[in-house]
Formats: sequence, structure tokens, C-alpha cells
Amino acid sequence: MTDSKKMYINGEWIEAESGETQEVINPATGESVGSVSFGDSRDAAKAIAAADAAFKSWAQATARERSKYLNNLYELVRTHRDELAGIICAEMGKPLREAKGEVLGAADNFMWYAEEAKRVYGETVPSTIPNKRIMVTKHPVGVVAAITPWNFPVNMVARKIAPALAAGCTVVLKPAEGTPLSAIRLFELIEQAGFPKGVVNLVIGNPESIGKEFTDNKKVRKIAFTGSTRVGKLLMEGAAKTVKRVSLELGGHAPFIVFDDADLDAAVTGLFESKFFNSGQMCICTNRLYVHESVVEEFTNKLVERLTKAKVGDGRNMDTEIGPLVNENGLNKVLDHIDDARERGGNIVYGGNRLTDGEYSKGFYCEPTVITDVTPDMKIYTEETFGPVVPILTFKEEAEVVELANDTDYGLAAYVYTQNNSRCFRMSEALEYGIVGINDGSPTQTQAPFGGFKESGIGREGGRYALEEFLEIKFVSFGL
Ligand code: NAP
Repeated sequence: MTDSKKMYINGEWIEAESGETQEVINPATGESVGSVSFGDSRDAAKAIAAADAAFKSWAQATARERSKYLNNLYELVRTHRDELAGIICAEMGKPLREAKGEVLGAADNFMWYAEEAKRVYGETVPSTIPNKRIMVTKHPVGVVAAITPWNFPVNMVARKIAPALAAGCTVVLKPAEGTPLSAIRLFELIEQAGFPKGVVNLVIGNPESIGKEFTDNKKVRKIAFTGSTRVGKLLMEGAAKTVKRVSLELGGHAPFIVFDDADLDAAVTGLFESKFFNSGQMCICTNRLYVHESVVEEFTNKLVERLTKAKVGDGRNMDTEIGPLVNENGLNKVLDHIDDARERGGNIVYGGNRLTDGEYSKGFYCEPTVITDVTPDMKIYTEETFGPVVPILTFKEEAEVVELANDTDYGLAAYVYTQNNSRCFRMSEALEYGIVGINDGSPTQTQAPFGGFKESGIGREGGRYALEEFLEIKFVSFGL
């Protein structure tokens, strides 16, 4: 076995205080692809102290100065695109061609916020009192503790640390324990980009222990989290003790609505992107498909035809469209949703099983699956499936489908396919979701706000909106 990779704290690569390490498993083969230091609250406290010590000078650096490091990182991430993509593929199974796109998306964030760092504008506001002047200025919130999930292990890190650093905050990052290798490689590039020591720190390890240090430590002024709604609630509760700011990018349960006037081929393409990208392991993944009853048969046939051509396999093959699930637990959850739907009267019209023969024998593969006759009592109707399964329901009226689509505690992403312009506007306004794709199955871009309504989260990533998440507003009153 090779040496374990370390954590990056105060500009040094160090082992966990506990001396513990953990293996990283490739879900396509079940084999180890490396080992990493596995830390706890003690390492988190050290990293927070380093970030706190570095904060003052980083916050006082000019925007142009901070921008220089972010631009260096942008260039380095682009240059190492294939290497980073290979690591993502090996540690969580994402098909290489998707992983390359993810790395470019991450680089784009570093470039975007290198620019946006220069636009932290304040303002003056007319006073109603003649001898007073009102000035509003913006300031970095302080040390940011960031926690990221495994499903976009490089881009989720970039989406947090790029705006935080641009705003003048220092950062301690905890990536998911299943995908630390890509984060470690990214931090090697961060080191190469020349960021001053302590400005960006990496801790890997026990989530409860590190998470508690993040929420309890007074030096941390902001928690930036992407992950499940369950953990988001825990962190929000913990952060309340010292009234830290939080931004939470949480779970979703996206409806995908196909009207009778939709271009059905475009809708199938959009659904494929929204449902099968990353093997269905995305927060904005379609989880309920509502098809107008007059076109449901035609649509289902077209979808099944598309799925018969979809290549499932090891992500290292460039023709793979759908990779394995991230681990055995992830696979079991998906199979449980399929079984539950079957038992409650669902009709499996395509797929429905684990793949185990030949090239699939060691990995965590599930067939792309289509289920009809879906009813609201099924798990798949209310819980995040996080896998390549499409449950199809039907509807008759626009008002009816709006009500069905909004009937959930989640509010992250929704999709609508229709060629009626007025309906496009009506639907975009009626859906209680932070992101609405109208005739668009993959509505994410660096410069657009990304985040959820209701229990899907608080705050936004992306564009100028993310920068605001890392800034405090100060009002200065001048008496003349
Ligand atoms: P998760 O279990 O909530 O884990 C996310 C992160 O939180 C991981 O780093 C995890 O560490 C850490 N964590 C777990 N328990 C913790 C605790 N008690 N205190 C502090 N940190 C803790 O979610 P996941 O299963 O990895 O990711 C999938 C979820 O993320 C889905 O619900 C998905 O919808 C959501 N997601 C949302 C967005 C968005 O932008 N809205 C984007 C992507 C994913 P370990 O890995 O060590 O457990």
C-alpha cells in the first residue's frame, strides 16, 4: 500500500492527531485507490486557528491581489483537468467525460470570482437628516468552515472556496470522507498557486467530530454546507449557539413536467440529462416525472428507446454514459426504492435490477429503470432516490400539476417542457423552486444563482449572489 495522503493546515501537509487513516474505494471495482489521514476535532481546531491567524492580512489584501491567486488556481486546475477527472472517476465512479466537465466548471468558478472579487461595491444613501451622511460598506465575514458532499467532489469545493476567498474570508474545508483524494490534489494546486499560509486549509475525517468543532468554535463566523437536509438542520442548530451565518445547499425532489404541446424528443433529451447525469446522484435530479395523459405512452416509448442505447459501465471508458452508484449503501437505497414501488403496485417497464454479471461483478451498478403506475404512498414519491430511476405519473390540467409539483418539503429544482410561451411564464412563476428549467434539463451555470426554497436550503451559490453570502454589511453614519 502507498503512504497515506495528508491534510493541509497552515501551509503544511500533516497527519491526523489520532494517527488514523482510511482507505478510499473505487465503486466500479470495489478496490482501494488510496489511503488518507482521518482526523477529528483536534485537527479542525488547529486549522481554524490557522485560518483565524491568516484572516486579518488576507482581508486587508487588495481585491487585485486576491484575484491574482484565484487566477493562478484557475490556470492550474485547467492544466490538470484530465488528472483531476481521473481521480474523481476512481474515487466515486463518475464517467470520465462528465468528470472532465466538472473540473472545467470548477476552474470557471475560480476565474469568475477572481473577477468578481473586484466588485465588492458599497454605496452612499441620501439621509433625511441634513447634517448626516450615510455610507454602506461591505466586509468579509471572517473564518468560513465549509463542508462538501461526494457527488461533485471538486466543483462543490470550488463553489464554496472561490467566492469566500474572493470576499476576503479564510477557509477550512472538510470534504466528504468517500472523496478526499480529488480535494487533496486540488489543495496541492492551491499550494502551487501561492496562497499565503493559513488562508485555505483542508481537514479530512470524522464528520460529527469535525462538524461539532466547526459549529462550536467561536472563531468560525460562517458555515457553508452542501449535503443532505438532515445534516444541514444539525449544522444550523449547532451554528445557532454562536449565531454564525449559514448557507445551506440541501436535498431536492425535482418534478419534471411534460405538457401535451411539448417537443417530446427534446423532453426525452432533457430528462436524460436531468435524471441520468452522475447516475442520478444530483441534488437537482428529476425525482418525479409528470407527463400529460394524452402523450404519456408516446413519451414513455421514446424514453425506453433512449435507455436501450445508454451505455452503463466503468466511468473510465469514454463511451460510458451511466456509471456505478457511489457505494453499497447508495445502491441499496436505490434498490429499496424500486422494491418498495414494485410492492405497492408500480409497474417496472424498464430495468429494475442490480447489474452483477461480467464487467459489473465487482461494482455497485443499477440498471436505468422506468416505473409507471406510481402512487404518492411510495418512497420514491417523497424521498430523494439518488439513482437512475424514473417514476412516471400522469396529469390532465395545468393547475393540477402545479399543485402536485409543489406538494413537497423540498424546493430546489423543477423542469417544464412546453412550447406555449404564456405557459412557460405561468409555470416559472407558479413553481415554488429556486431553479426552474424551462425546456432545459441542465440549468446550472457559474454566473447564475443556485439554491433552494423551503427545506432545500438557505442562501445561494453562483454568480454575484454567492459573494454576498461571505460579506457583512456595515453602516457608517457621519455627523457633519
Ligand atoms: P451528507 O451525508 O449530508 O454529507 C455531506 C457532507 O456532510 C459530507 O462531507 C459528510 O461527511 C458531512 N457530514 C455528515 N454528517 C455530518 C455531521 N453530523 N456534521 C458535519 N458534517 C457531516 O450528504 P451526502 O449523502 O454526502 O450528499 C448527498 C446529499 O447532498 C443529497 O441530499 C443531495 O441532494 C445534497 N446535495 C445538495 C446540493 C445542493 O447544491 N443543493 C448539491 C449536491 C448535493 P462524510 O462524507 O464524512 O459523511
